[in-house]
Amino acid sequence: MAKRPKYDNIFEYLDEHYEFKSPSNPLTKFYKKDISENQYAHLDGPVSSELTEFTDEENAARTVSEFAKAAGADLVGFTAVSDSFVFEGQDVPHKFAVVLAMEMDFDLIDSAPDWPSGTEVLRVYWRLGAVAVKVAEFIRNLGYAARAHHPRGFVGRPPTILHTRAAIEAGLGEAGRTGLLITEEFGPRVRAATVTTDLKLPQSEPKKFGVDEYCSSCNLCQKACEGDAIPDEKADIRGYHKYTIDAYKCLPYFAEYDGCNLCVSKCAFNRRGDDLKRFLEQLKA
Ligand code: SF4
Ligand code: SF4
Repeated sequence: MAKRPKYDNIFEYLDEHYEFKSPSNPLTKFYKKDISENQYAHLDGPVSSELTEFTDEENAARTVSEFAKAAGADLVGFTAVSDSFVFEGQDVPHKFAVVLAMEMDFDLIDSAPDWPSGTEVLRVYWRLGAVAVKVAEFIRNLGYAARAHHPRGFVGRPPTILHTRAAIEAGLGEAGRTGLLITEEFGPRVRAATVTTDLKLPQSEPKKFGVDEYCSSCNLCQKACEGDAIPDEKADIRGYHKYTIDAYKCLPYFAEYDGCNLCVSKCAFNRRGDDLKRFLEQLKA
């Protein structure tokens, strides 16, 4: 089972300890309010008594994927629920997971560590949270239990799902030195959310496109990180040999800069469409 971090919820910690002081305050305030007041109440709900049967799990996955993309998800993958991404002590009764990811705007993230970058992260939590709620509702409407796990966690409760690890297991990308998800489509400029369900779904193919190898000889994120929070080496954590940032070193900078994001904006994989494609082609060559 994954160990919970020492603080119950990173966003709760930030809300308690720091004020987002940027000119984007009305936006960030609304995103947080709408998440708390309107999205958290609909993460789970009643299951339809009318069961929709699928010929096979691939067919079920196609249907869910089509709905999730229509609702606004950019990337969709599937995996079995695993202790590697369920936090210790959390009750996640379902066997299958749909993992959703949404792109963050290049120019806004490029403004890091200034406030437009942090505001963009909150905007995507808000939009992606709404998509996760809709996908769970759609699956329940098919007659199967489903619960959305919010990309911003649930302020006031311990986290349930480590979305980055779920996304990697669902074939959406690889983990970089920052521990963040890096995708072929958007590099590290994504956020992920998870819906767990009883609907039988297939396992997506894991994706390997050279991130791990590249990170072993790259330190752009480390050089950009004013908090010295990004590690030199991997460590054995929760059964994985992986990079993990020091959250306690990161948090003060994260808070001071309304989300920081320097490690995302300065990442070698943070490139726009064709530029990212050319970069990935070079890695394969
Ligand atoms: S968010 Fe900022 S402080 Fe935190 S790890 Fe990234 S660069 Fe470092
Ligand atoms: S900046 Fe370099 S080392 Fe850091 S995550 Fe991106 S590719 Fe990996």
